[in-house]
Amino acid sequence: MSTCAWQAVQSDVCQTAAANFINKYKLSISVAELDALVGEGKFCGCEGTYNCKANKLLFFAREDVKEIIDNNLLYDSNNANLSSFDILQSYTNSQCDENIASMTYDDLMDDIGASGDFILEDIYFKDCKNLYCVYNDIKNLPNNYYSKLIKDLHEDKTLLIEMSVGTHGESGTVQIIGDNYIRMSINQHDCINTDFIGIAQTLLHELKHIDFKTTLISGWSNNDEYRAMWRAWVNKKYGIEYYNEHHIMVLEYMKLEANTLRLIDGNQFPYDHYLYIVWKGGLEIDWQGAFSESTVDDWKEKNEKIQSNPNKYKCN
Ligand SMILES: [Zn+2]
Repeated sequence: MSTCAWQAVQSDVCQTAAANFINKYKLSISVAELDALVGEGKFCGCEGTYNCKANKLLFFAREDVKEIIDNNLLYDSNNANLSSFDILQSYTNSQCDENIASMTYDDLMDDIGASGDFILEDIYFKDCKNLYCVYNDIKNLPNNYYSKLIKDLHEDKTLLIEMSVGTHGESGTVQIIGDNYIRMSINQHDCINTDFIGIAQTLLHELKHIDFKTTLISGWSNNDEYRAMWRAWVNKKYGIEYYNEHHIMVLEYMKLEANTLRLIDGNQFPYDHYLYIVWKGGLEIDWQGAFSESTVDDWKEKNEKIQSNPNKYKCN
């Protein structure tokens, strides 16, 4: 151990700094244990340095942070070579003044989201077999609108997008959690669902919701601001008072989504055969009557060919 580090560990100043740190964060460890955590020879001098190093060590000792690092759940959409540890390390290096060790998970992710363009595929999402399989197939589509969305969801602002699994909503939800943090949550029944085209439809639909919240509308920092900006954007573009996101999907994105489902299904049928799946996947409910009954019946008939096809898309 260097003399400098030894002096730092032994000095009263360090002991006091450690005690203050423990007291400040109401930690259930002793000064000696904290000394051991901070380690030998890692610093010289105390006060701020002590707090910063201990804060960082406690941050990396958090179960939720360890889970991200151990499973490499977080990645930089612009730099695939960075590991989750690299990203978190560079984040903590600029956060000495903040109490990153005891922030809530949501506040932490929001804060990390402010420092770059990140995607976090949480452990439930990665363990959700059929869903994660289809997600990766979409991610690997070459030069596709939706695969690009997963790689770079957020052009105008720094954001963390979390891919998760839950029980809310029939198929999935997209929520703004913080200024720089959006969570997509897909219903857990898709972990064992064997309708793989259905899973793909849900993912494409929710990815479009994320896209609305990030690329088309920028400058929001919470749900209320987002809604106000959405209304203004719709009004400017379509000259109408208010349309929800599903209405805009009906107007502009049905063909794109159907074409991508077609691609995932190996181009086995023309795109209009997939329109029924797109329409039933959350759009019809918000805009009944947008298409004539005979049009929808025609889609339905074509859809039956996809469903009864023995070579229908499977992911495993
Ligand atoms: Zn929707």
